[in-house]
Amino acid sequence: MAEQNFPTGDLMKGKRGLIMGVANKNSIAWAIARQLAAQGAELAFTYQGDALLRRVGPLAESIGSDILVECDVTNDDTMDNTFATLKEKWGKIDFLVHAIAFAGKDQLAGSFVDNTTREGFKSALDISAFSFVDSARRASEIMNDGGAMVTLTYLGSERVVPNYNVMGVAKAALEACTRYIAADLGPRGIRVNAISAGPIKTLAAAGIGSGRHMFKFNKAASAMQDNTDPMGVAGAALYLLSDLGLSCTGETHHVDGGFHAIGMPQETPLKEALAD
Ligand code: NAP
Repeated sequence: MAEQNFPTGDLMKGKRGLIMGVANKNSIAWAIARQLAAQGAELAFTYQGDALLRRVGPLAESIGSDILVECDVTNDDTMDNTFATLKEKWGKIDFLVHAIAFAGKDQLAGSFVDNTTREGFKSALDISAFSFVDSARRASEIMNDGGAMVTLTYLGSERVVPNYNVMGVAKAALEACTRYIAADLGPRGIRVNAISAGPIKTLAAAGIGSGRHMFKFNKAASAMQDNTDPMGVAGAALYLLSDLGLSCTGETHHVDGGFHAIGMPQETPLKEALAD
């Protein structure tokens, strides 16, 4: 992500929350973290393994965060430890950002019906959808009433995107989970929403076959004829996690330059993009 200035202010002043899913400076979760910090939030981060600690540690430090917990969402002990650490350090939290997804590379190419295996399906759904249910339940136990949660999804849940395959199914489950969690936690004033981001160049996106075509096509076929800016995703997260988002819950909010709204793209930019 290019060096950008995130709008500063007090919208998140006095609020504390957990960011799950920063792998490096290009991660969507990192753009969200920077925006929340620029509005006064106190942040804690999870990371997976020592290699990521080397990258996430300095990033967290750069915005004044000293709570970093190792967490693999498939491992109950590390999940227990993550939320116990937050309880010990802070007592209560106000928000959760879940930006975690995984499917084996062999599951993200070619024919969905031929290439999706039982193990591939289970692991994609476990890491990319169940992990939000599990994190939301644990977070809700230490969350102040009136708190908020956000997860990250993609249009491949609603429509077929070549090679996205089992991840599209996992994202459909994730969006349904968002609505069910929103209903369960709504009476406590806790709001739960998903942001459906357009393609952004990150490690996770690099794992999907035909990535170059995806970026070119999205740019040409979106209403704005441009790729998605992580700052827009971070801005949407700020709205949904702050009091600006009051009364908004159970929503899947698209931040994709209007790609989702187009039935048939304009001919010229599409022809040019596909000829390139
Ligand atoms: P990213 O930087 O690669 O972040 C994905 C994160 O998920 C990484 O920190 C990764 O850690 C973590 N993760 C995977 N398996 C995990 C596990 N078992 N336990 C804990 N963490 C685990 O990519 P990103 O694009 O920002 O992805 C963030 C979210 O945005 C994902 O849900 C993704 O599907 C969604 N999204 C992305 C795009 C896009 O175009 N980039 C568009 C729409 C939605 P490791 O690196 O250690 O595996």
